[in-house]
Amino acid sequence: MDNCIFCKIIRGEIPSPRVAEGDDWIAIRDINPAAPVHVLVIPRRHVESVDALGDGDGPLAGTLLLAARDVARQEGVAASGYRTVINTGAEGGQTVAHLHVHVIGGRQLTGHGTA
Ligand code: AMP
Ligand code: ZN
Repeated sequence: MDNCIFCKIIRGEIPSPRVAEGDDWIAIRDINPAAPVHVLVIPRRHVESVDALGDGDGPLAGTLLLAARDVARQEGVAASGYRTVINTGAEGGQTVAHLHVHVIGGRQLTGHGTA
């Protein structure tokens, strides 16, 4: 998508070093981290949100979760624990309309969100 910030990062138009990447996804550091580790796992394909996933996107959804697992291990928070968050839509707190999985850790988290 032309105006999507994550698509621009994926195309290399906005520089953002990759923490990790796979055939179908990239992982970058959140620009406004909520914790010492805050990485976003982003599908290369522009999918707006969980709600925009198709019935055939189960493999992609699974791949993103496994990528989050691997990123957490790489970032050294797998043993201490971490949070995976996906916000959907306005009331879900989604601010970038390109599906992404937050991987947040490195401190004690409370509640359920990215705060
Ligand atoms: P959400 O509110 O779930 O849509 O999450 C969007 C996240 O993207 C927020 O945590 C932002 O801090 C983060 N973000 C926005 N722009 C960038 C960027 N250029 N590079 C890295 N992270 C970004
Ligand atoms: Zn996009």
